[in-house]
Amino acid sequence: MTGSENKNLRRLPSIDLLLRSKELASAIERFGREVVREAAREVLDEARESIRQSSGKGFISSDNSESDLGLIDRICMTAAANCHPALIPVFNLTGTVIHTNLGRALLPVEAMDALREVAGQAVNLEYDLATGTRGDRESQVEKLICVLTGAEAATVVNNNAAAVVLVLTSLAVGREVVISRGELVEIGGAFRIPEVMGGAGCQLREVGATNRTHLADYAGAIDENTALLMKVHTSNYEINGFTSAVPEPELAALARKCQLPFVVDLGSGTLVDLTRFGLPDEPTVGDCLAQGADLVTFSGDKLLGGPQAGIVAGSRELISRLKSNPLKRALRVDKLTLAALGAVLQLYRNPGSLSQKLPVFRDLTRSLESIARVAEEVLPAVNRFLNGEAEIAIVRCMSQIGSGALPVDLLESRALQITPSGNDRSDRKLQDLVSRFRKLPTPVIGRVHDGSLLFDLRCLQDTSKFCRQLYDSPGPAGGSS
Ligand SMILES: *Cc1c(COP(=O)(O)O)cnc(C)c1O
Repeated sequence: MTGSENKNLRRLPSIDLLLRSKELASAIERFGREVVREAAREVLDEARESIRQSSGKGFISSDNSESDLGLIDRICMTAAANCHPALIPVFNLTGTVIHTNLGRALLPVEAMDALREVAGQAVNLEYDLATGTRGDRESQVEKLICVLTGAEAATVVNNNAAAVVLVLTSLAVGREVVISRGELVEIGGAFRIPEVMGGAGCQLREVGATNRTHLADYAGAIDENTALLMKVHTSNYEINGFTSAVPEPELAALARKCQLPFVVDLGSGTLVDLTRFGLPDEPTVGDCLAQGADLVTFSGDKLLGGPQAGIVAGSRELISRLKSNPLKRALRVDKLTLAALGAVLQLYRNPGSLSQKLPVFRDLTRSLESIARVAEEVLPAVNRFLNGEAEIAIVRCMSQIGSGALPVDLLESRALQITPSGNDRSDRKLQDLVSRFRKLPTPVIGRVHDGSLLFDLRCLQDTSKFCRQLYDSPGPAGGSS
């Protein structure tokens, strides 16, 4: 340790001294003493580190009054940053409409209003206002699900993974679940059907081959240890070529003959025929039940367009076994989820209005002209922000629905293609560009494709907020004048 290093380290004030300083009083009032103390500790640690590294030439200058002010400012900034909410809005220009990493479905106004209404007040969650006795928290939502799918009964849990676990632990513990080898899906985030089965305490009985499974394969696997037949919608891949899967009605008939439940994990699970919106065909929950499924499980925040939830719909007898499983209590949803889900389901009572009212459908059905218009509108702002650092073009691209729904069906869209200028087409330059957009106050998230950054404009609604942020930001190398 050098003499000047030592001297500079000793010159740093103590945390207690800092906390008593006038300059931090308002920060303490605003953020609380503990938050400011924690920030002071962080800033002092950094200051010590920087003194050690530069051996007396850190950001602490030898002019004492100035350096203390520097510390105070840093402490206030750190305290404020540590109090920021963890979740902030971003612009989803990835081209994936239902993006799991970006929070999946955007809620409609009706659901946000319902959330606000119940969030800060007592509500009749489990209180029957007609009789003054204990009520069922799901009754309203269950009724809507039944009307919309033709199911006899339904229940709601935390997400679809939980729905599958609840079904398996209610109906198949210690017994076998027969499933095709072509459907041993990994959804991502460690949700793998074989592991879920193991975790739920049942045995997987794989039948058929990856590409082909026949009715006889299922029939041959059924014995006295079989608990149920299961079909999993292969939501994030498609098997092409020499393939064969058993149609649902045939599987349902086999299950019925053997007096076994037939369960379908539909994944995204839409409630309406998507082709009426000009979208690719996807089996609906209602179709699935009509074809003989006894239970169907699906997500609330994928194509349904609601909050995170897992829904099980189907036979009254089986749903009541699910509801009486003690695990249901651990997986149940709160008043916020029920309020938002109820409001979204209500919109489905008037399907004609879905493409205006439900953001998922609004974005999926957005016209190419509208997307192209957005591209023209935002081009100058992006251009100005990049200040010659990159070349920008409007290009044709394909958006995806996302979250496993219809993995190979893409929707034509338009994107800004941003390519680093000059001869230096290195990956580093591209990564710089990507991170500059990611570090904006409202981060802009695109996707990298073929040496360019692509901004798919399908999901950009608030173009003026988008442009304002770019005009307000200092340009690339610290200033674009
Ligand atoms: C998405 C999906 C799941 C998991 O649903 P979450 O709501 O994310 O828990 C399970 N099964 C299938 C087939 C899926 O597509």
